[in-house]
Amino acid sequence: MALTVVGSVAFDSLETPFGERERILGGAATHFSLAASFFTRVNAVGVVGGDFGEPEWDVFRRHLIVTDDIEVVPDGKTFFWKGRYDYDMNTAHTLDTQLNVFETFAPKLSESSRNAEYVFLANIQPTLQREVGVQCKNAKFVAMDTMNYWITSAKDELTETIKSVDCIIINDAEARQLTDEPNIHKAARKILDFGLKAVVIKRGEYGATLFTKDQFFVVPAYPLESVFDPTGAGDTFAGGFMGYLASHDEITESILRRAMIYGSVMASFNVERFGTERVDALDYPEINQRFTDFKRMTHFDDIPFERATVA
Ligand code: AMP
Repeated sequence: MALTVVGSVAFDSLETPFGERERILGGAATHFSLAASFFTRVNAVGVVGGDFGEPEWDVFRRHLIVTDDIEVVPDGKTFFWKGRYDYDMNTAHTLDTQLNVFETFAPKLSESSRNAEYVFLANIQPTLQREVGVQCKNAKFVAMDTMNYWITSAKDELTETIKSVDCIIINDAEARQLTDEPNIHKAARKILDFGLKAVVIKRGEYGATLFTKDQFFVVPAYPLESVFDPTGAGDTFAGGFMGYLASHDEITESILRRAMIYGSVMASFNVERFGTERVDALDYPEINQRFTDFKRMTHFDDIPFERATVA
């Protein structure tokens, strides 16, 4: 089934302890689309400037991502983000954000984008997110992301948007900030009480947790020994998660759990090289192998149950 994503398409300049890159392809919608494209047809909705070149479009083309709704403003410049990571790669330090054409972004959805059954509202202004959600009348499952900036500056609008979706995928600090609740379980339950079917809380290298009514499911991050660049890991997780869901007609607890594993698997590839380099070069056997390894490594069934007793 079709999946539509709306969000940033960007040039990123990145510094990590392992190297630097200048003005490489990035953006939430980009990372999301690439990961999701391995599972389903993806419509990307965004905006770029005249500086967005053929090498960047080629990345989308290679993965058959539909870019008809990525508006081009010929005399404008593409959104630019510069970030640095220290040895704690769970924390991005923003060095520069130049919104450029993204500042006046008004998502325009073609009929085919509007008709998608699955929709992901990446991190953009909450009212714009809601407007996109409303336009997607056929949507069976709408998920969203956000960031601390919107929680601080537009909490009421953000809350309205959260109430309109089925799932939110955010990190633990954002969940605490959003609910004024230090305990992550209580925070997740408070968000579920807005009427959502699922809340996914990401914790960087410590994995992610899925909260649904009365249940929770923890997925570790795939145990990688070489992490080069975490930029886009969250969006790649969301792309794997939503892409996998969109390859199914119905959403059950078991399918949501498998989607969590695919999210984790896709994110693990993303961080192995800078920007989109690794996911762009991925193939299906690698994805399937890592999914199999992941299941084998996290298998609890082999551990015999022993009742706790006093010796
Ligand atoms: P992630 O590491 O998954 O949180 O996402 C990183 C991506 O988000 C980068 O490729 C950036 O281009 C993009 N990004 C950074 N800041 C913003 C922002 N304020 N709005 C939208 N996208 C952003």
